[in-house]
Amino acid sequence: MHWADVIASELIEISSSHRIATGISPSGHIHLGNLREMVTADAVRRALIDAGGKAEMIYIADDLDPLRRRYPFLPEKYSEYVGMPLCNIPDPSGCHESYSEHFLQPFLESLEILGIPVEVRRASEMYRQGLYEPAIKLSLREKDKIAQIIREVTGRELEDDWYPFMPLCEKCGRINTTTVTGFDDHWIYYSCKCGNAGRVSYRGGGKLSWRLDWVARWRILQITCEPFGKDHAAAGGSYDTGKRLAREVFDYPPPYPVPYEWIHLKGKGAMKSSKGIVIPVREFIEAIPPEIVRYIIIRVKPEKHIDFDPGFGLLEIIDEFEEKIFERDRSVQLSLVKEVKYSEVPFRHLIVVGQIANWDTERTLEILERNGYKRNEIAEDVERRLKYCKVWLEKYAPETLKFKIISGKVELGDEEKKFVERYSEKLNDNMSAEEIHTLVYEVAKEVGIDANKAFKAIYRILVGKEQGPRVGYFIKSLGVDWVKKRFHEAY
Ligand SMILES: [Zn+2]
Ligand SMILES: [Zn+2]
Repeated sequence: MHWADVIASELIEISSSHRIATGISPSGHIHLGNLREMVTADAVRRALIDAGGKAEMIYIADDLDPLRRRYPFLPEKYSEYVGMPLCNIPDPSGCHESYSEHFLQPFLESLEILGIPVEVRRASEMYRQGLYEPAIKLSLREKDKIAQIIREVTGRELEDDWYPFMPLCEKCGRINTTTVTGFDDHWIYYSCKCGNAGRVSYRGGGKLSWRLDWVARWRILQITCEPFGKDHAAAGGSYDTGKRLAREVFDYPPPYPVPYEWIHLKGKGAMKSSKGIVIPVREFIEAIPPEIVRYIIIRVKPEKHIDFDPGFGLLEIIDEFEEKIFERDRSVQLSLVKEVKYSEVPFRHLIVVGQIANWDTERTLEILERNGYKRNEIAEDVERRLKYCKVWLEKYAPETLKFKIISGKVELGDEEKKFVERYSEKLNDNMSAEEIHTLVYEVAKEVGIDANKAFKAIYRILVGKEQGPRVGYFIKSLGVDWVKKRFHEAY
């Protein structure tokens, strides 16, 4: 049984209707690692619906979170914004109304392309609308009980004057430099490290500290299931405190947890926008078809980490996807976005043909027809995936997969010349790609040249390098007659 179906079946035993929460702080480029949360939640959502239940997904943008430090991708001047909520900081690129929207918008666009329907809630709006007011009042009233639970679960000592609320200083605009000094029914009183002291309202005057904010939103949004990163899932982590706070303070059952592991970028470590080790989602989905992006995540159980290599490693994942697509594999099924029509042309093959055709769709289709594909069966799919092949090749492909067809004379030894001459004579238009490939070995044997040298000679003539795409379908794709002419011209 697929992991998403296992979770769905357990959820359905609790209730037939579910609200699944996701939340990512828009503090930098939202990247492939963050996407694991969204895709995991969406797989569960779809599995629930397939099992006859109802499910909705909510995405909470934590735009009231303070900027923690000036990240390497930010200009010097951003040091002065550290501690201010992301929704109150200007867009570093100047194109959106705030810092948080700059990173949020492209991410939301990506979700649409990935077929992930979400109800978007911004923390800043929820606080301003007063949705958190009862939770803030409850948290302030019960702060000693809350502090006791946090002490017990985390082993962390909290000061007696600790409050689970972060007032937003009206003078300096910071949210992490203030201390609550008291509260009544209408106001929360505070002092700030900047020297200011004052009062803020329950509606938009600040936010609950993370562990409380999380639990409060479970109740406000009636959340029943939530995937979260392994840091929150650790013993004494925020889910452990959340469970107790939910039951003992908020009188709400904690949501069904789906902890997930990180996505590592092969050879570089866990993706973290603060460290600059990221593939931004918006950029990635221009290079990879959405079903493959989903499949990278859905094929692996959430509790296992993913070591992702956007080069050869990705090609292997695509091979696997293409092998399974016609078998009704569950991971593939949960990855497909809408009703995409998939043809049998492998991605690897499209990369070669696309380069030969200089990414022209018409020429690509002509070549594929020559390779035995039926145009009406592949045209729509080829047109769609060819765009991805081009971008992927430019951005992520290993150099060895790239080639350019050359012209003019090529220096060859006598042995090589003899081979190419004989090979060219024997090549004919009716041969299959496989026959063209086998012919290399036959002719090499006949003229007494090492097969390796024979292949290298072919590549040197066609692409000016000693390696290239598999010779059989490469020559078939280029067209046998054209290749014969090229051989003739080369020596
Ligand atoms: Zn912007
Ligand atoms: Zn201040």
